[in-house]
Amino acid sequence: MLIDLHTHSTSSDGTDTPAELIAAATAAGLDVVALTDHDTTHGWDEAQAAVESTPGGPILVRGMEMSCQGRGEDGDPVTVHLLAYLFDPTHTAFAQERSRLRAEREVRLRRMIDLMAADGYDVDADTILAAAGPSAGRPHLARALVAAGVVETVNDAFADLLKTGGKYYVEKADTPLDVAVAMVAEAGGVPVIAHARARTRGRLLHTDHILELARGGQLGGLEVDHPDHSPEDADALRAIAERYGLVVTGSSDYHGTNKTTPIGARTTAVDQFEKLVAKAAGVPPIHPDGRR
Ligand code: AMP
Ligand code: FE
Ligand code: FE
Ligand code: ZN
Repeated sequence: MLIDLHTHSTSSDGTDTPAELIAAATAAGLDVVALTDHDTTHGWDEAQAAVESTPGGPILVRGMEMSCQGRGEDGDPVTVHLLAYLFDPTHTAFAQERSRLRAEREVRLRRMIDLMAADGYDVDADTILAAAGPSAGRPHLARALVAAGVVETVNDAFADLLKTGGKYYVEKADTPLDVAVAMVAEAGGVPVIAHARARTRGRLLHTDHILELARGGQLGGLEVDHPDHSPEDADALRAIAERYGLVVTGSSDYHGTNKTTPIGARTTAVDQFEKLVAKAAGVPPIHPDGRR
């Protein structure tokens, strides 16, 4: 079984439409794929329709990656991504929070673009935001910088100009991690902390904060196998997950051509996937043959 529980589409900062993403998952021979766009469920219906019209295609897990703020190793706030699986999209408070996060994304990206434009870069906020879709992020600005010839690749844009804490970086008001975990659980979903040891992205979430959430009982799992994790960091996260009975996931964090990682580059064990589905009470996985 090939199970990839973290991918992005054009509904956030991936480059495949949800239907193209399902085609890519099918071509890669995946048995299960989760669509986890940033702060939106916008792509769910298109992905579901694609799965239902693809015999032999993957099972679809409807999910999201939520922008959160946790406690960093130095005690200061740090950005954390929380994967949320199989939650009820109509849960009012959670739907409102997603919408607030997307509005926050727009305001913040506009500020970043305006700062760059004021410094003479050939970028326009209205144009970039119009092209960005429902969940605007730095990769949309990165692509505009590639198109303007400022940098060669999206990755190059993140190396300096757009990096966290860099000259043009603007923070956004993300959801406190504890609030987010409770909200996802309340909506019947399974909250899983994403790439907690992705060191190249900047400062890290304090291990104590992970342990507090694990002891709290509402956290569902930890993303352990991720392209940005070293084997040592993955092992340390796996040990925490095992100690607290959390689901251990593995995933590619596929973003189409915005990143070099192919879909299915990391995968989740079938017993862990089954444990995740058993914890969920929001919406079921979608089977290609209409089976439940
Ligand atoms: P934002 O959500 O607007 O803060 O932008 C962060 C997003 O940028 C993350 O979801 C990553 O997928 C993406 N990202 C971060 N670093 C890189 C990189 N080096 N190359 C491509 N995408 C990146
Ligand atoms: Fe992303
Ligand atoms: Fe992420
Ligand atoms: Zn992601």
